[in-house]
Amino acid sequence: MKRLIFDPEHVQFRDSVRRFMQAEVGPHVDRWREAGVVDRDVYRKAGQQGLLCTWAEEKYGGAGVGDFRFEQIIIEENMRHGDIGFYINLHNDLVAPYIAKLGTEEQKDRFMPGIVSGEIILAVAMTEPSTGSDLASMRTRAEDKSDHWLLNGSKTYISNGILGDLIVVAARTDPNSRHGLGLFLVERGMAGFERGRKLVKMGLKSQDTAELFFTDVKIPKANVLGSPTGGFGYLARFLAQERLVAAIGFMATAQTAFDLTLDYVKERRAFGRPIGAFQNSRFKMASMRAELDAAQTYVDQCVMLLNSGDLTAEDAASAKLVTSELEGRVMDECVQLHGGAGYMDEYRISRMYTDARISRIFAGTSEIMREIIGRGLGLDERKLT
Ligand SMILES: Cc1cc2nc3c(=O)[nH]c(=O)nc-3n(C[C@H](O)[C@H](O)[C@H](O)COP(=O)(O)OP(=O)(O)OC[C@H]3O[C@@H](n4cnc5c(N)ncnc54)[C@H](O)[C@@H]3O)c2cc1C
Repeated sequence: MKRLIFDPEHVQFRDSVRRFMQAEVGPHVDRWREAGVVDRDVYRKAGQQGLLCTWAEEKYGGAGVGDFRFEQIIIEENMRHGDIGFYINLHNDLVAPYIAKLGTEEQKDRFMPGIVSGEIILAVAMTEPSTGSDLASMRTRAEDKSDHWLLNGSKTYISNGILGDLIVVAARTDPNSRHGLGLFLVERGMAGFERGRKLVKMGLKSQDTAELFFTDVKIPKANVLGSPTGGFGYLARFLAQERLVAAIGFMATAQTAFDLTLDYVKERRAFGRPIGAFQNSRFKMASMRAELDAAQTYVDQCVMLLNSGDLTAEDAASAKLVTSELEGRVMDECVQLHGGAGYMDEYRISRMYTDARISRIFAGTSEIMREIIGRGLGLDERKLT
């Protein structure tokens, strides 16, 4: 279905992003999967190409473009022609906004130029060994020592956990309040900050997911983001964009899987005809086509709502829920239509299948998305008696 939200300047931008992904990212996928991490250099190259934080102010090296469609295009082209392990969307749209929107002028002057050039790679650390969905239960704590904060605790499953130079770390600052959290800028090389294992995962093989440990890390007061007790509210505020960003990626991978499967069913033959000629294959492809178009239209509408400042937490949760569940179904059907080849690592669809399994879990599980949407309907067990 023709997508209505893009103007000629977006189409032109997409062409240049595609060329970048095809030249600088796609060719390295196998090597990066082997290494379990992408080259640091790819961030610098993306920075040189103007693909890091298009929205950042010009004084920091950005283009100052407040139109999220440009970021959407970068995510889509990376998923299709680049590599899901190159977490440019985490850097651009999930973590950098914390610094740009909550940071002081001094913090922005210090970090934004490196973030936009790709010298500084970003990560965000909320999840802990004992808690993920229930963020208010986090145990990592920061104590106010008058001229600095003292950070102790650990985080796990952190994307860009090995490559990350600047980590936004959420920690409890008020032991008496469930929501008393702060956000701290932890820099590579700070004494007491250590990285653990690069975790071995079912999919996302080129993505460096790691544990982080903090033992008496002295965080200068100048590295606190916003109010030291306002962290919970900040996380909630930024999670809506995070979930839409996730949904954009899920649609792009599902669409890519669909396209390569369509090619496959036209070529692969069984019983004297292409397998796409069987009614079952045709119906499966038709159902996926219809569902993908419907979900894409919803996501595109959410991008326009984000642009106008009208995207709600419930809208974003719906986008994440619907697209991640659809992506899972599409990957499964596409593997099935590939037959045994679909189970072979050398076929992209096999890798896409395992990569996609995380979509229903991270950035908030499907169950948590249903909670957010349900509470938005007034169906909140904490308030209904
Ligand atoms: C590859 C990968 C990358 C990640 N990257 C990051 C990152 O960069 N930074 C970061 O901070 N975190 C990251 N995470 C963590 C991720 O966000 C969490 O794993 C996720 O939020 C779920 O938390 P959990 O693992 O603790 O599961 P749990 O919270 O223990 O949930 C287990 C199950 O219980 C269900 N459940 C929990 N609460 C409820 C409820 N109220 N109602 C119904 N069901 C419920 C869940 O839906 C799930 O099915 C990443 C995880 C992975 C696997």
